[in-house]
Amino acid sequence: MSLRPDGSKWPVAILGATGAVGQTFVRLLEDHPWFEIAELCASERSAGKSYVDAAHWLEGAMPAAVRDLRVLPCDPSSVRSPIVFSALDAATAHDVEPAFAHAGRMVLSNAKSYRMDPDVPLVVPDVNPAHLDLVPGQRESRGWTGAIITNANFAAAVAAMALGPLHAAFGVRTIFAATMQATSGAGYPGVASLDILSNVIPYIADEEPKIEAELRKILGTRDGSRVIEAPIAVSTHANRVPVEHGHTVCMSIGFEKKPSAADVDELLRSWRGEAEVRGMPSAPERPIVMSDRPDRPQPRRDVNTGKGMSAVVGRVRPDPVLDVRLVVLGHNVVLGAAGASVLNAELLASRGVLAGPAHAR
Ligand code: NAP
Repeated sequence: MSLRPDGSKWPVAILGATGAVGQTFVRLLEDHPWFEIAELCASERSAGKSYVDAAHWLEGAMPAAVRDLRVLPCDPSSVRSPIVFSALDAATAHDVEPAFAHAGRMVLSNAKSYRMDPDVPLVVPDVNPAHLDLVPGQRESRGWTGAIITNANFAAAVAAMALGPLHAAFGVRTIFAATMQATSGAGYPGVASLDILSNVIPYIADEEPKIEAELRKILGTRDGSRVIEAPIAVSTHANRVPVEHGHTVCMSIGFEKKPSAADVDELLRSWRGEAEVRGMPSAPERPIVMSDRPDRPQPRRDVNTGKGMSAVVGRVRPDPVLDVRLVVLGHNVVLGAAGASVLNAELLASRGVLAGPAHAR
């Protein structure tokens, strides 16, 4: 069951709809078979304006259906949609997202505010959809009828796409990862052009600890109402590079079962993820696409693989320090942000989790 009990589409709201991730939600939800954009919300600066006037639209043409929608404040009393996609910055999300969950709404968040809370699912849909089962325990412990479901930091999400199947098969124990992260990951206007053109910035505030902690939670095991983090040592170097979209992660990986590079290549090549996920409208045909060229993946050429929902893996080879090394690329704003939230919402809809009494309005 994926539509509402009466056969209509689920009305959805987007919080932070005018920002870079918010606009990606608008693009991905245009013509969605189960969800319909009913409400767009942003700060007091934008509230009351039409969306076309409030948003500095970044890519292609703005969908006609949203141009004249009046932007609302991010306040549950102004919003009726049962499903709320949040593209708010963390400081704003900290107060706003629980207010929506208290008001019975299903909040699918891109902010870091609640990702590491033990009762909050941190889900990369192709890797750990079982963690969505934390929702009933969260409702009980927080005393709300809604829920907060988060998706990962964009670089962690991209790395997890390759690490998820490898951890399940061979037991990942050590990761050394260097990231090359696109400027769109900093939102709009993001990094000043004079800082990033012809340059590499070897620092992104708070990024390395986030990637390291989130990977351990994503690859962890659900145990009742919490997740037991995977015992993996992770060392990350996060870099901002002059690329528009697409985070690239170069990883050396140490395993418990010591697979060869050929074993790793074969496993990733044949991996299709969970059958449940493959049936969803936003799921790509293949969650991982392998590239056999020695100079790929590259953001300019590969970032839109699977409409931005597939991770592209290449250069799988032996590692002289750990066991195997490889490169993985993913679209930071689609696979690493809005696309993952929409796919999580599809999974919840197909499991019937959206259809409780609080959501039948
Ligand atoms: P952004 O472009 O700066 O957009 C921020 C949005 O939040 C705007 O719609 C803004 O509305 C709204 N906002 C700001 N202050 C507000 C307030 N006090 N009350 C209500 N709304 C407020 O940021 P972004 O890049 O889209 O990122 C959004 C979130 O997603 C962040 O938490 C980020 O870490 C996360 N994320 C980003 C990416 C990425 O690749 N960009 C990937 C994964 C996760 P106004 O236009 O009215 O100011």
